[in-house]
Amino acid sequence: MSQAYLLIRFGELSTKGANRNKFVSCLGRNIRHALKEFSVEVTSDRDHIYVSYQDDEFDAVVHRLQEVSGIQRISLVHILPKDIEVLKEKALELLLQEEGKTFKIETKRTDKAYPLKSYEVCAALAGYILSHDAPFTVDVHSPDVALRCEIREKNAYLSCHDYPALGGYPLGMNGKALLLLSGGIDSPVAAYRLLRRGIKLECIHFAAPPYTSEAVIDKLEDILAKLSPYQEGICLNVVPFTKLQEAIYAHVPEPYCITIMRRMMLRIAVLVAKKRHALCLATGEAIGQVASQTLDSIQCINEVTNFPILRPLAAEDKLTIIKESQKIGTYEISIRPYEDCCTIFKPKKPKTKPKAEECAFYEAKWDYLPMVEECAENVVHTLYKNGEKINIEEEQNDE
Ligand code: ATP
Ligand code: MG
Repeated sequence: MSQAYLLIRFGELSTKGANRNKFVSCLGRNIRHALKEFSVEVTSDRDHIYVSYQDDEFDAVVHRLQEVSGIQRISLVHILPKDIEVLKEKALELLLQEEGKTFKIETKRTDKAYPLKSYEVCAALAGYILSHDAPFTVDVHSPDVALRCEIREKNAYLSCHDYPALGGYPLGMNGKALLLLSGGIDSPVAAYRLLRRGIKLECIHFAAPPYTSEAVIDKLEDILAKLSPYQEGICLNVVPFTKLQEAIYAHVPEPYCITIMRRMMLRIAVLVAKKRHALCLATGEAIGQVASQTLDSIQCINEVTNFPILRPLAAEDKLTIIKESQKIGTYEISIRPYEDCCTIFKPKKPKTKPKAEECAFYEAKWDYLPMVEECAENVVHTLYKNGEKINIEEEQNDE
């Protein structure tokens, strides 16, 4: 008798030596959490995590697992005794359930004491299949079905179905970042890339009503809902930015407005990040995309802080970013028309090579620091979980 399981393969995790146990238990926790609505059992040993399933939930369970970061591949495996006769029969049975005309057997032996070598196992299984009039011939180069046999310490595994997964690291392994989330195309893609790397996220958005509309918040809510399969609850910190933005436009010449606005955003974001225990900031900036994202601009804007800032899209081209946003389902939301505080006050001729000394000169024209602190102080903090808003106290109990 064999038992079928979904076997979780870790990919990058397998290279992590001493941290391995921590990685596996974090991933195991995330998997259990992701599958809490299904009738599954999640077990693990040193090398793998196994998920049992009910047949009628199989597709949904695989789909949900494909959204969990840290899983490289999911294999449907049949766990069997290592008796070669048992393996032969099961290999034939599995192959007969497949469509196609050609097959190949691949064997991996971690039990080096097993009496048959890998190629002997391949020959035994293939020979048995061919001698039973199965409608298959062998093709070792591009077979329709690749049947894998793993001879392990306790059992043998047979599998012929693999499902690609997200890769990366388990969420929570790599600390928390505060992502600057606008309503555009880039920042949600940056979010997705960070989540895949196991970085938990909170988001911060700078709103300048009445110049920017309330609709942008609806947009952000919809974007966060699209990201929720990767992180169940995401906090959004909305900064009341109007007063400071008006002050910028009152004191700063137009070509420098965007640069100084971004410097202020960073100052505020750093204060909020520290308050929210985030280890770094992150943005959806891509080098060269617009005036404020030339290397000169980035250097000048970044000058206000030594707090780390991740820019996962820095060297990415727009078409790739658009494709990725379509894949994760945020594109259609991002292209809805809206007024961002950057678009509303867009100068006709923004500086592409701003100078830090000039920024400092203009910033000295008024006492901006209390305004920065006030913005950070008055942030409105909301947790979005499964499409619902949850207040801050409940969320803190959750952490
Ligand atoms: P996107 O808005 O999708 O990132 P974009 O090309 O419109 O793309 P910009 O508006 O230049 O980019 O902004 C660059 C980055 O600055 C954004 O990716 C985001 O991280 C941050 N940002 C811009 N505007 C805001 C805002 N109002 N609130 C929070 N972050 C913002
Ligand atoms: Mg934008």
